[in-house]
Amino acid sequence: MKYRESWELPSIPNEVFWPEVGRRRNEIASGGRPKTLRDCEYCGQQYSAREMRKHKPLCPKGPNKKTKKGK
Ligand SMILES: [Zn+2]
Repeated sequence: MKYRESWELPSIPNEVFWPEVGRRRNEIASGGRPKTLRDCEYCGQQYSAREMRKHKPLCPKGPNKKTKKGK
């Protein structure tokens, strides 16, 4: 099925929508779908995309570490 941009949540019939909601809740309850893990380019640790966004500024080997002293 092709993705249509006009496809909106309210247009989904309940008999399709709610089983899908249940399915996704089960997925989440059972640990969620397999995450795509990526290696941090700085420290080599694996993180999911979302975790990576949080991790990068905090990465101990990253370039974002503030090296300036003082202030
Ligand atoms: Zn890192």
